[in-house]
Amino acid sequence: MSVEVPQAILNTGTQMPVLGFGVFQIPPEETEQAVTAALAAGYRHIDTAAAYDNEEAVGRALAASGIAREELFITTKLWIQDAGEESAARAFDASLQRLGLDHLDLYLIHQPYGDYYGAWRTMRRLVEDGVLKAAGVSNFHADRLVDLAERSGFVPAVNQIETHPYYQRQGAHDVMVERGIQHEAWGGFAEGRNGLFTDPALTAIGAAHEKSVAQVVLRWLFQRDIVSIPKSTKPERMAENIDIFDFALTDAEMDRITGLDTGSSLFFDHRDPAMASRLGGVRIHD
Ligand code: NAP
Repeated sequence: MSVEVPQAILNTGTQMPVLGFGVFQIPPEETEQAVTAALAAGYRHIDTAAAYDNEEAVGRALAASGIAREELFITTKLWIQDAGEESAARAFDASLQRLGLDHLDLYLIHQPYGDYYGAWRTMRRLVEDGVLKAAGVSNFHADRLVDLAERSGFVPAVNQIETHPYYQRQGAHDVMVERGIQHEAWGGFAEGRNGLFTDPALTAIGAAHEKSVAQVVLRWLFQRDIVSIPKSTKPERMAENIDIFDFALTDAEMDRITGLDTGSSLFFDHRDPAMASRLGGVRIHD
């Protein structure tokens, strides 16, 4: 199926499809099939991570698809254990190998922990060497984002952060816009928490457009200039989630969704010391 997904232009000049397919929590043995179905539904942007343990399965689906490499936008992420100048270089090569690719479109520092300044120097070099089109970060609050950009002199192309109707991140968004950093949403559906898929306001807005709650949420992100990467293992939902480019939310509908913001994470706060300690200790390889 061919779906025209608009492209965001990153500060590197690289084009990034504004809607992609996320594979977090898809078990490795189901990932090849899920990515194959997503590609068939028209997705060309895939978001994985070394920590998801499914890069090899993503790579198999990409290879089997026969889709030209230049039509694909592939993101993976560097885990905390590999933060550091030399370890990041090794981790990048290992991810490329597992994905069966010779370059990556986007490589993100997965968490704002460990020696990510060292990793960032490596990412800059990878971009200069041409094996990486764009480098970015994930889960960076605005203070860390600004410090990294200013102290390194190398501005991230993307910051991928938790963003959904109950945690809208407008302040973080404004900082990113000001600095030319693309805001990318993870957990756009809040993984269904807070009753998102039956939320009365989102349901009413959907009914007015004959669209689902999922489509309303993804459209709302798109109209805020935020890239999204919804995850589903079900082909009918994959098709539904990419079908958001034929309607528009009104200003009043956008305002109504703004009213759902709680200003708090539904998952965890990266500034929580217990989380820094717990996540920082997670090892994904020997
Ligand atoms: P999400 O996209 O907010 O929600 C996924 C959930 O929504 C799944 O339970 C899925 O169920 C369901 N769903 C999907 N489409 C639906 C639809 N049309 N109607 C009803 N239910 C639907 O959650 P996420 O996977 O956490 O976030 C998206 C991506 O962001 C991830 O896959 C990953 O790539 C990335 N991410 C990054 C980080 C980070 O730290 N950087 C953290 C989390 C996620 P089914 O699968 O059963 O359809």
